[in-house]
Amino acid sequence: MRELKNYIGGSFLPASSGALLENRAPATGEVIATIPASGASEIDAAVAAGRAALAGPWGRSTVAERADLLDAIADGIARRADELAALESLDTGKPVALARNMDIARAVANFRFFAGAVRHDETGCHEMADAINYTQRRPLGVVGLITPWNLPLYLLSWKAAPALACGNAVVAKPSELTPLTASALAEVIHGVDLPAGTFNLVHGLGAEAGAALVSHPGVAGISFTGGTSTGAQVGAAASAGFKKLSLELGGKNATVVFADADPAITLPGVLRASFTNQGQVCLCGSRILVERRYLESFLSRFRTAVEALTLGDPSDPGTELGSLISAAHREKVEHYVALARAEGGTIVTGGSRPAMQGSLAGGAFYRPTVITGLPIDSRVAQEEIFGPVVTVHPFDTEEEAVALANGVPYGLAASVWTRDLTRAHRVAGALDVGMVWVNTWLKRDLRVPFGGVKASGVGREGGAHSLAFYTHDKNVCIAL
Ligand code: NDP
Repeated sequence: MRELKNYIGGSFLPASSGALLENRAPATGEVIATIPASGASEIDAAVAAGRAALAGPWGRSTVAERADLLDAIADGIARRADELAALESLDTGKPVALARNMDIARAVANFRFFAGAVRHDETGCHEMADAINYTQRRPLGVVGLITPWNLPLYLLSWKAAPALACGNAVVAKPSELTPLTASALAEVIHGVDLPAGTFNLVHGLGAEAGAALVSHPGVAGISFTGGTSTGAQVGAAASAGFKKLSLELGGKNATVVFADADPAITLPGVLRASFTNQGQVCLCGSRILVERRYLESFLSRFRTAVEALTLGDPSDPGTELGSLISAAHREKVEHYVALARAEGGTIVTGGSRPAMQGSLAGGAFYRPTVITGLPIDSRVAQEEIFGPVVTVHPFDTEEEAVALANGVPYGLAASVWTRDLTRAHRVAGALDVGMVWVNTWLKRDLRVPFGGVKASGVGREGGAHSLAFYTHDKNVCIAL
């Protein structure tokens, strides 16, 4: 049983009220930690600590010093990688192998990548006949980072690394459902020579600590990843204070499978896109659109592959599917499966809880579920479920596939599976999303723009986009 603390001004502190929230392991339902139920006063203290750091040595730090510190943080995470993977798996219910190979590996990579990116960053110079302009990149100040439960350290490091690289002070508010690795990151940062107050961590509820952070007048920018409806509230509150804002929100991503797709890569690829992290990745392809003449053959092979997935104890290295994030989230998923039945859908496989034994009997497990026969405009095919549930829909022409893919309020990502390169270019160009993969899924280069359109968010992060987000450009014009 861990008693986690906030990390404010270089010290680990409880909430001033002494109030605590319980943190449960979703695979067993057991309470594994308590966190401070923080609110406005802890956010005030963290923002003040950030401003003090900016007024002190951190505000005078050089790019080279900051890049070296980021590398030291990456080293610190890498040294604790096995422990952090176990914590992430315990906290989220995700398979430990996934936590080790994806979440923790990416956290290390994020700090290393942005250390390199800021070292190699450059700004513009514009010459005139009688003057010269040059652009300076300046940190925003104190930035608020709000992250969800599905990829806790992965997404926190994706934001904290560029924010620190650019010289900002950070106040991070992780999901109260998954606080463990954020606290471990604070310990790693405590162990390197980052000036006190540069990185602050405040645990608590979104509606309390999160809302206080978004509306705090001392915060210059907010980077938020989470659900679309929360994003709308965050956007409204941040805009009222003229804060710089990045919103990475939900998705209802299409997986578009043409009949000429290579089954050897398409089946495992679509399987991964459907059920990685129990379908709880914003980029997961939850609507599979299949060319009608390939539908029957695809479905029978896909069903076999889905049923062969190993669902079990997340701490077992052989487990491919773990538990959902919470019992409440499983109820939401079950509600959608019941709705699918009511809307006329056929459950091809899944659609129920697996029988788990021993301590896992109290876990939030759900079988990977494939549904056919639903109208494309049904709620189940339109709304983000964020769980191990995919719907499969036939199409006859390329134009129809594009129209079906684009026919949702979201526009985050899509994947296209075909051997016809010309068609791949054409379809990728026509899809109304921020990211398209062709014959692959979730292959990420940290330099590329990441983000969505429509209800999936505003702004881009990644590489130069992150450096641009976490800074403002100042022009200096000198008369010659
Ligand atoms: P939520 O929107 O519920 O929460 C996200 C974060 O915001 C949490 O830390 C939450 O705190 C906090 N929060 C909640 N209310 C407020 C508020 N009023 N003001 C400020 N902060 C608040 O999302 P989930 O945690 O449920 O995550 C799942 C969602 O995230 C899915 O919709 C998914 O698609 C999306 N997502 C998007 C990604 C992208 O890059 N586009 C990547 C990953 C996920 P608390 O948990 O304490 O309530």
